[in-house]
Order: sequence, then structure tokens, then C-alpha cells
Amino acid sequence: MHATAPTAFDTRLRADGQQLTRTAVTTVQVNVGRVCNQTCRHCHVDASPFRTEAMTRATADAVLAFLARSGADTLDITGGAPELNPSFRHLVTQARAAGVHVIDRCNLTILSEPGQDDLPAFLADHGVHVVSSLPCYTADNVDTQRGRGVFARSIAGLQRLNALGYGAPGSALRLDLVYNPGGPFLPPAQDALRADYARILATEHGVVFHDLLTLTNMPIARFRADLVHQGRLEQYEALLADAHNPDAVPHVMCTTLVSVGWDGRVYDCDFNQMLDLPVCGDDGVPLRIDTLQVSDLLRPVVTGDHCFGCTAGAGSSCGGALA
Ligand code: SF4
Ligand code: SF4
Repeated sequence: MHATAPTAFDTRLRADGQQLTRTAVTTVQVNVGRVCNQTCRHCHVDASPFRTEAMTRATADAVLAFLARSGADTLDITGGAPELNPSFRHLVTQARAAGVHVIDRCNLTILSEPGQDDLPAFLADHGVHVVSSLPCYTADNVDTQRGRGVFARSIAGLQRLNALGYGAPGSALRLDLVYNPGGPFLPPAQDALRADYARILATEHGVVFHDLLTLTNMPIARFRADLVHQGRLEQYEALLADAHNPDAVPHVMCTTLVSVGWDGRVYDCDFNQMLDLPVCGDDGVPLRIDTLQVSDLLRPVVTGDHCFGCTAGAGSSCGGALA
């Protein structure tokens, strides 16, 4: 295990008699690389069209082999824009054939990129669960955070998915949206925001979706650099720490999820991956997906003060508000 000095987060957990320990592995989250067609201001993986890191087919096959031997029931594929990885469709096809639930963290604009014309049909044909960022229902806010024209292309992408049955009430083609704040503040209550999204997207764009997940911005990578630039990093970190909610601790994603990097290294979550905090064996050597066993992971997770981003307020994880 990576040796780290106690942090304010660790100290707070200890004071409450809590510890973050993985108790099962139900979800394998795979970051297949940093290549993306967008360059969003709040991207916690610093993805862009200029990045080159990409998971190889051999590593993708090692992920599939781990899914089989671990019994994990969900494969959560992220990036970058994961669909740009040459092994994306291989991962989806093989995992679905094995009965695994597959989530595609789809940025929506990828659906209108050259060469991706058949992507919506591919996702539908394989029953892939689509989870997409849409940080607001207004064009101005989305374009400010994610780039000019992104809102219009995102709506067009949602409409194409809707036309295939995604997001319709009762449809097995699951379509969820993700909200994250446009600045250094906590997300509002998930249920009320979901109702606003549903009403406005339906009336103004004819778009339907299943759920809205609220995520807190992590003070890492590009968002952290933005905060430093604005002189607001300490203020935001204090906001997260002050809003720590012990009830969210048992539900944070690292208790049941393992994260795999594009190069096959293993992490407790995507955020630890970006902070280069790998899961290490007893010998201190980072674990790799090709030799990973579930028993390697049933242990305390590697934490840091960024973890307050998961436990602030109602809590925040890949699945939205927690408590
Ligand atoms: S936030 Fe998502 S869509 Fe935006 S640059 Fe990062 S990976 Fe790409
Ligand atoms: S940042 Fe990662 S390790 Fe920390 S609480 Fe969140 S999921 Fe767990």
C-alpha cells in the first residue's frame, strides 16, 4: 500500500471512528485514455485532442479477463472520449457478451464527430448505459464550461439517442445526465435540479432522459489550476472540508469500485488515478490489471484531502448524490 502521511481527511475520519475500506468489487472503471474531442475547463483528467495516451488491445483484454475472474457486474468506460479508443467497441462487445452491464461516459459531441455516424446505433444494439455530462440546460453555461457550440451539439446528440429509445420512460436503454457546478461551489439538491432539467429539456428541445446525477468538482487537474489562477483554491478546499458529511462515507464509490488506467495500472478511483496515487502491493509496487486479484483490493483505500470532494454535502460519486 502507498505510504502517505495522515491528511485532514484521514484525521476527520478517525475522529468519527470511520475508515474507507473496499468491501467488494462490483464495478471496474476503465480510463481508456486522455484523448478527447473537447477541452473542457473543469476536466479532471486534462483530456484534449492533443493527448496521445491510449489503452492498448492487450490491456483491454486484461481488463476483460479481470472482469471474468472477479465477477464484477459493471464495466464503466471513461476517458477522454472513450469512444475514440480503438479498443472501445471490443471492450463493449466482449463485456456485453459476458452479461456485464456496460456504462459509456459519453460526452455527446462525440456522436457528431467524423467517423462516429454509427455510434448511437452501436450503443443501442449492445444495450450500453449512456451517462453524459450536461452541466446546465442553458447554452451559455454549457458553452462557457465545455466549449463554444457544445450545448447545441449535445442536444443534437441527445435527440439522436432519444430517437433510438434512449431515455424514454420504461426503456431499457438507460440515459442519465451529469451535472457539475460551473464554479467553486457545491451542487444543489439533486431531485429539484432533476425536475428543472426534465421540464426545460422536454419543453425547449423535446429531450427526455432517465436520471440526473450531481457531481462535485474535484480540486485537481485543470479545475485546480483554474482555482489557483483565480486565487480561490484554499477557499474551495475549506468549503469541501466544512461540508464533510459522515453519512456519505460508507457510500463513496471506492468502497466497491476499482479504477484501471490506460496503461493497466490500478487505482482506488479515477481521481486517485489523476493524482498518481496507485494501489500498491505489500512490496510497495503498483498493482497491474493483468495480475490483479479481488483479494488484493479488499483493504483500506488510499485517501487524500481531495476525498472531501466525495463526502461534501450530499456526497458525490460516479452515481451522483449519495446521502
Ligand atoms: S470533461 Fe470529458 S468531454 Fe470534457 S475534456 Fe474532459 S474527458 Fe473530454
Ligand atoms: S476521491 Fe477516490 S479514494 Fe477518495 S473518497 Fe472519493 S472515491 Fe474514495
